[in-house]
Amino acid sequence: MGSDIVTIPAIHRSAANPFDLGGKVAIVTGSNTGLGAGMALALAQAGCDIVGVSRADAGDTPARVEATGRRFADVRADLSSTAPVEDIVRAAVEAFGRIDVLVNNAGIIRRQDALEFTEDDWDAVMDLNLKSLFFLAQAAARQFVKQQSGGKIINIASMLSFQGGIRVASYTAAKSGVLGLTRLLANEWAAQRINVNAIAPGYMATANTAALREDAQRNDEILSRIPAGRWGAPDDLAGPVVFLASSASDYIHGHTLAVDGGWLAR
Ligand code: NAD
Repeated sequence: MGSDIVTIPAIHRSAANPFDLGGKVAIVTGSNTGLGAGMALALAQAGCDIVGVSRADAGDTPARVEATGRRFADVRADLSSTAPVEDIVRAAVEAFGRIDVLVNNAGIIRRQDALEFTEDDWDAVMDLNLKSLFFLAQAAARQFVKQQSGGKIINIASMLSFQGGIRVASYTAAKSGVLGLTRLLANEWAAQRINVNAIAPGYMATANTAALREDAQRNDEILSRIPAGRWGAPDDLAGPVVFLASSASDYIHGHTLAVDGGWLAR
């Protein structure tokens, strides 16, 4: 009896390895430290040249990227306003001729009881984590359209895209907004072969969570609720970011991928 199985060739994938990012150019904001540094390194190891956006010092990311054999363009920008977004894309194109990937990672958090929360703590977080994220995505997508190349936008969301949290009003508002915006932009741009997705890290050991880890009670509460039994590390985002930047994810649009040691499964 003959087999009913029909093999359909993956005609849309030119690379033998669909995770290969050789020859691609990725912009990573907040690449000087923490999760941004980890994702810049992972993308470089997969073949990308990196345009690293740092507010002040680029840290050791340029050296770590160059040690993989890829190039690093050091762009300094303060994303607390939208003023630099077009310059960032222009600098990337001047450095490497094109862009293929944007990782919208730069972000801050402000902690205060909702009754005491200030307008400054609201605006600072919303301006960086949501407003600049949108306008940088817009500038990158305009370049993708100009290149007629398609492209990949990966926004960094949070557990607080799904949950309410406590004492972090503007952060929850911004990260919930990132999840919604990721869907909206996917809807508008998918037909132009632009994939917009997000990664929602769980509780990761970086400067962003230092205050939580220093509070012994909060540290224990959080650790005991993570099925994997440990804080996440920047390395834990390596596979997910390469996947979402690569042709392996070409039919994934508007998804927010939790990388959380099982936190949301509880
Ligand atoms: P981090 O504090 O180590 O890194 C934040 C990055 O944003 C730094 O590179 C910093 O220079 C940059 N940045 C801050 N203000 C900026 C500005 N005005 N202009 C340009 N860059 C600016 O923290 P992290 O944990 O690596 O955070 C990276 C992203 O991951 C953030 O969006 C954060 O909200 C998100 N996140 C972190 C966790 C976690 O547990 N650490 C969890 C979920 C989401």
